[in-house]
Amino acid sequence: MTIFSRIVAGEIPSYKVAEDENYYAFLDINPVAKGHTLVIPKREVNYLFELEEDEYLGLWAFARKVAAALEQAVPCKRIGVAVLGMEVPHCHIHLVPLNTEGDLNFSKEKLTLPADEMQAIANAIAAKL
Ligand code: 5GP
Repeated sequence: MTIFSRIVAGEIPSYKVAEDENYYAFLDINPVAKGHTLVIPKREVNYLFELEEDEYLGLWAFARKVAAALEQAVPCKRIGVAVLGMEVPHCHIHLVPLNTEGDLNFSKEKLTLPADEMQAIANAIAAKL
């Protein structure tokens, strides 16, 4: 079971942003920018491009809704998108509020935000859905 499946199952806590029957969105625990959100299929599939087409398209449709809410909740120029999967073998789309190109740099030092700020960000995004 991946760490993300354990999050979906509620075994590991997360700052949940959105959920439906098939997909789940939550804040990245070590964000590259405030509001950095991960969007995943609940089904455990390693690689994004291994998803069946309907699940793949559904994931992007779900991510689109989350991105619209994120853009309203966190001041930014636009929402950047990345797919890496170098760390967790459960496919996920990174949604990152961008003000500069450098905000989407995964090699720089990540942020660690206090729990109350993480919760406030997650609540603010969820309120815009
Ligand atoms: P990737 O697999 O795309 O290279 O990186 C995995 C991402 O998941 C990283 O940005 C990392 O901070 C995030 N991440 C890893 N473990 C957890 C976790 O247990 N909870 C949350 N919310 N994020 C995680």
